[in-house]
Amino acid sequence: MNQTDYDVIIIGGGPAGMTAGLYASRAELKTLLIEKMILGGQVMTTTTIENWPGYPGGVDGPELMMKFQEHCVEFGLETDSGTVEKIEDLGDTKRLVIDGKEFICSVVIIATGVIPKKLGLPGAQELVGRGVSYCATCDGAFFRNLPIAVIGGGDTAAEEALFLTRFASKLTMVHRRDQLRATKVVASRVVADEKIEMAWDSVVDSLVSDNTGLTGMVLRNVKTDELKEVEVAGLFVAVGVVPTTDFVADLVELDGSGYIKAGEDTHTNVPGIFAAGDCRTNILMQISTAVGDGAVAALMAERHIDALKHKS
Ligand code: NAP
Repeated sequence: MNQTDYDVIIIGGGPAGMTAGLYASRAELKTLLIEKMILGGQVMTTTTIENWPGYPGGVDGPELMMKFQEHCVEFGLETDSGTVEKIEDLGDTKRLVIDGKEFICSVVIIATGVIPKKLGLPGAQELVGRGVSYCATCDGAFFRNLPIAVIGGGDTAAEEALFLTRFASKLTMVHRRDQLRATKVVASRVVADEKIEMAWDSVVDSLVSDNTGLTGMVLRNVKTDELKEVEVAGLFVAVGVVPTTDFVADLVELDGSGYIKAGEDTHTNVPGIFAAGDCRTNILMQISTAVGDGAVAALMAERHIDALKHKS
């Protein structure tokens, strides 16, 4: 084997990728995990995680991901940062180009997860870093004692709103319907929180800004079309997620929303390429489901490599 030859290359260092890495390394497969940003994925932007078993009272997202990382490395997983530019299916082997360098492997596990959906409003992109944010844990503290708004009605929006109440002078949660999509227990906490004012049936129609950044938003009631300007210094967008799968669109089958078509066995339509975690068609996006996927993908990798050995 050359230095750049691996049994398994995992793309993505969130809970699914790291678990696949842990299982594959423990199965003594030569495994490399490639991550574009920092290991930990979306969980790195989460504060307390209440539904990861074994941690009554919750666990801090980055703290949990550091433990995942330590645990993977204990079994010999190699990790590196880089961007996968190309994956070529050569049959029994796969050829990857990562930051201009060629790698060969028998199995690829795609675990690239999702990224936050952007707010398609004029001026929103220009105001990122000057009032508009996609990460409450990263940017919340910049808005101490200032009016804050959160857009969205899912788990992310609800959890971000509750977290941001510690900074906000007042928090407006803007949701396009009259009922939150978030898990009941979190949704009830949001509605009961005295600092949170719900703007039901509302969308942000436009943003108001001056040369210092965001100063307000104009809300439109979707039922009455009534417009209302609200003063706001920080606007946190949590309107859902999109899978990071563009780079494999020509390689594996995707569904209409861009998720990799793969079932619970993590098989894609290409032998030797598996998909794990939030980037595959999935009914639940949780750390626990991503972890389960990572374990299954590593087992599938092991079986695939065994079958290749018996073939030759
Ligand atoms: P989500 O569940 O898809 O919710 C997105 C929210 O944004 C929905 O309420 C949606 O409204 C709203 N929305 C979508 N497009 C919009 C637009 N253009 N303008 C205004 N509002 C818009 O996304 P998420 O909250 O990011 O969660 C993603 C997945 O991760 C979910 O499966 C979630 O359960 C999971 N998650 C789990 C946890 C946890 O277990 N602790 C934490 C965070 C996330 P509608 O409701 O009207 O569609």
